[in-house]
Amino acid sequence: MTKPNVSLQSVQAVDVHTHPFMPNREPFSQADFVRILSLAVIPNQIPNDLVLHKHQPFPGANMWVEILTRRLAAYLGCEPSLEAVVAHRNERAADFQAYTRALFQDAQVTGLVADFGYPQPPIDKQMFADLCGARIWEIYRIEPVMVRLRKECHSFGEFCERYRADLQQALKRPEVVGLKSIIAYRSGLEIMAKDEAAAGELWEDFRQNERAEAKALRDYCLHIAMEECTRADKVMHIHTGVGDGEVVLPKASPSFLIAMLRDKKYADTKVHLVHGGYPWIEEAAFIVSILPNVYMDISLQNPFSGHGVKRALAQIFEFAPFDKVMYGSDAFTVPEMNWLGVQLFKECFEDVLNSWVERDYMDSEKARYIGEMVLYRNFERVYHKHL
Ligand SMILES: [Zn+2]
Repeated sequence: MTKPNVSLQSVQAVDVHTHPFMPNREPFSQADFVRILSLAVIPNQIPNDLVLHKHQPFPGANMWVEILTRRLAAYLGCEPSLEAVVAHRNERAADFQAYTRALFQDAQVTGLVADFGYPQPPIDKQMFADLCGARIWEIYRIEPVMVRLRKECHSFGEFCERYRADLQQALKRPEVVGLKSIIAYRSGLEIMAKDEAAAGELWEDFRQNERAEAKALRDYCLHIAMEECTRADKVMHIHTGVGDGEVVLPKASPSFLIAMLRDKKYADTKVHLVHGGYPWIEEAAFIVSILPNVYMDISLQNPFSGHGVKRALAQIFEFAPFDKVMYGSDAFTVPEMNWLGVQLFKECFEDVLNSWVERDYMDSEKARYIGEMVLYRNFERVYHKHL
């Protein structure tokens, strides 16, 4: 038998969940660089008089930071230490656009579905498109709309009307491929049936405080977003699983969504489970296997779980059909996140695919095709976009 050698190196990638970023104004220190790579809300306290042992990891560095440092050192042609990588990065990123475009080209990222809801205030779309040189589609977040209208509206009735109209307007724009909710950061994913009266009772709470739990009201707003995505034949993105430190972790598993997703009313609604519910990836994989219009991506777990990416991919495909999973990074501060996302994914998925070929579960051609499906073909089909 010939040794399996599935390679995804020449395959383009569409990153279906990412955020825009801007050039850093000042060169990075090592501490800045580690901080910007972290999902932590409260940054690590790094003492000014820090003295590190030669082999000691930088405070707060985890596996993904170590992997990035070594891969970036190879790319930049320098010694694989954080110090050298940051120094070379600062030099090359002085022309930030050229640096960013080169990273995107190296990773063959040809398209991005960007969530401009983070960071706030939003980054200019044209500026970001020029920066990375890839095609950009937009996902429109519902929570900033709710927050804005809560100040402008005098009654709950007016709020509902204007909220729906705002979503409809956004969905008419051709570059907007869907809506997104981060309800997992506010009241959790256990969505109750649509109840306008219960939502209205929480209107005052929400008016007073944009971060109020206001669960029935948030559930109600999510239902409206689901309805409008259905009508527009666009995709509803729902954040699932871990995220930054503010997530309502006990209610962030995608399993909580199952009642809403199974509702007949939403049988035709395309739902995209952002982050594939990590760490509840097997639940997400099961959900996408039983519901024809529900999909998942691998963003955040890839690349931020580091060596865990390989395990996660092997686990997801225990249940998930191959046409239900899409590539993503959740890059949110620097282009290196988009870049390593692709590199690490390809490296890990090649390992997984080759192990399947080795066991004669499939041949190399099919294995490679599955790689292409995750990297861009599933996106093209689900989003009706062609590259
Ligand atoms: Zn994100």
